[in-house]
Amino acid sequence: MLIISHSEVRELLPMRDCMEVVAEALSDLARGEGLQPLRAGTLLPDRQGVLAWMPGALASGKPFGIKILSVFENAVEMGLGSHQGGVLIFEPTTGSPLALCEAGAITAVRTAAVSALATDQLARPDATILAILGSGTQARSHIEAMLEVRPITHIRTWSRTRASAELLADEESGRRGVPIAAVSDVAAAVEGADIICTTTSAMEPILPGVLLTDGMHVNAVGASVPSRRELDTEVVRRSRLFTDRRESLANEAGEYRLALREGVIDDDHLQAELGEVLIGTHPGRASDNEITLFRSLGLAVEDLAATRLVYERAMERGIGTQVDLSR
Ligand code: NDP
Repeated sequence: MLIISHSEVRELLPMRDCMEVVAEALSDLARGEGLQPLRAGTLLPDRQGVLAWMPGALASGKPFGIKILSVFENAVEMGLGSHQGGVLIFEPTTGSPLALCEAGAITAVRTAAVSALATDQLARPDATILAILGSGTQARSHIEAMLEVRPITHIRTWSRTRASAELLADEESGRRGVPIAAVSDVAAAVEGADIICTTTSAMEPILPGVLLTDGMHVNAVGASVPSRRELDTEVVRRSRLFTDRRESLANEAGEYRLALREGVIDDDHLQAELGEVLIGTHPGRASDNEITLFRSLGLAVEDLAATRLVYERAMERGIGTQVDLSR
């Protein structure tokens, strides 16, 4: 089995290549190929964090496997990522383990790659202004991903801690070559934006629907457990809603479940899964005026597709550490 570290994953998994393989995995899933059970997780006894496990299988002939990780939000203060663990993939004919990849790097890239695919399908083609809410790992990878799919000329970022937003703006504007302004409130970040990415661990809504205007596209990435919300009910009500997986939306998305419970929307509110848009069974955005919302929950098949690509490249280039578990 090949062990592949964080820095090795980052070297072997450019955003654009990751977009291609997750698009293939989501398209396969939309055609009924592959296997995607709901993820599971448990709060640990001292309530410091969560242990989560996400099993799945790519289409026939491709690997199956599991992502297993801890989510410790306070780990960031210790200089660690909040998502730590591994993605383990297995060879589909023998069942032998192939590779174990560091999960934080896979998660950072594949989540933003999926949002980029959604943005490419759903945002207006002339979108140039991007608002990023949050300033952690996903905020950074979403800046990179959005630049892949739209000609972004201005970025505004807001975060709960002003200094985090300023640091993000300073570092990423230099790295990406696009001006990024750190602003002090959400309204200033989203006013006039074409694309909004919410990437926080907020418990309560940070984005109220009253701030949305016609033609916007929202990627909602954080708060991916039912007890949390980044969006208020009005965002859900005003948007044409897309997601990565129906079952995940129904079981894991707090703002969607609340909007249903309140009777503000019904089951028909969901337009399609992203994979259905990718394979052309749903047209995606229907007019320049509508507000589109992609609710990302995160799927194991995305992790498996990214890990498979990293594994193949690592084997070609002699990167990673081989361990023979069978001896
Ligand atoms: P990080 O820990 O790197 O960043 C978390 C961000 O959330 C920080 O910018 C922090 O702001 C902000 N934040 C924390 N608590 C609050 C709060 N109460 N209100 C408002 N903002 C808050 O996490 P990641 O970037 O890795 O992940 C971000 C979110 O995305 C998490 O909720 C995570 O579970 C989710 N996620 C979703 C995935 C998916 O597939 N949909 C995949 C991976 C992650 P500040 O530093 O300014 O205080």
